[in-house]
Amino acid sequence: MARKILKGSDPIQVKVRDLVFGGEEKIMIAGPCSVESRQQIIESAKALKAMGVHVLRGGVFKPRTSPYAFQGLGLEGLKYLKEASDLTGLPIITECMEEKYLDIVSQTADIIQIGSRNMYNYPLLKAVAKYPNPVLLKRGFSATIHEWLMSAEYLAAEGKTNIILCERGVRSMDTYTRNMLDLTAVPIMKMETGLPVIVDPSHGIGIRELMLPMTKGALACGADGVMLEVHPNPDQALCDGEQSLDFDQFKGLYDEIKQMKY
Ligand code: PEP
Ligand code: MN
Repeated sequence: MARKILKGSDPIQVKVRDLVFGGEEKIMIAGPCSVESRQQIIESAKALKAMGVHVLRGGVFKPRTSPYAFQGLGLEGLKYLKEASDLTGLPIITECMEEKYLDIVSQTADIIQIGSRNMYNYPLLKAVAKYPNPVLLKRGFSATIHEWLMSAEYLAAEGKTNIILCERGVRSMDTYTRNMLDLTAVPIMKMETGLPVIVDPSHGIGIRELMLPMTKGALACGADGVMLEVHPNPDQALCDGEQSLDFDQFKGLYDEIKQMKY
């Protein structure tokens, strides 16, 4: 079945407060994998704001492979994330995995993230599309381009066009990296949908030393922004420490990115 709405004929810009995804400026989303405490997210928000980051990220509902791994602080974490946003003026993005939390996430977060594991969750896609917030739709880690396109179309079919796509790597035969970051998806998805496309090198690669070259690569091939995991103390992180940058590492990366001409 063909797409009826997202045909890529015109570029679509997605506005979040005074930011424009798909505009001139490349958007930087940064923050910890998970909100771990009030202090951790507020400290992160202040540091990242001072470095010029546009959007603060932080998971409160975490889709963990093991049921025994840290699952996120849930609604308590959402409260801390909101406080960090209010204190710094940074817009926030967080993942929602269940329909029952869409009301509260929609009221609290600027952007609702649909994570890789839920790209195929069609009832959730239909439900989130009814909310006014922009949706960041991550690529399923085994999703073909066509499947990802059709998930975006699920949102569009419900009337939603403020969608931001996020390439976050796909599973491959190679286990050196966490996933295979598919940068070809960036120009393809932009051409096919007209929607803004960002890249998440953190989950795409999983190795913090590779964040700089792959962030450069993502932006050079047309990504409208990137999302990077940054933690005050990655060695102590409850989730994804090995791919997280500390504040100094992130500052070095971002200072270099800001010098780039695209
Ligand atoms: C995340 O961004 O917090 C996350 C869980 O990523 P993904 O859904 O891409 O695995
Ligand atoms: Mn993570």
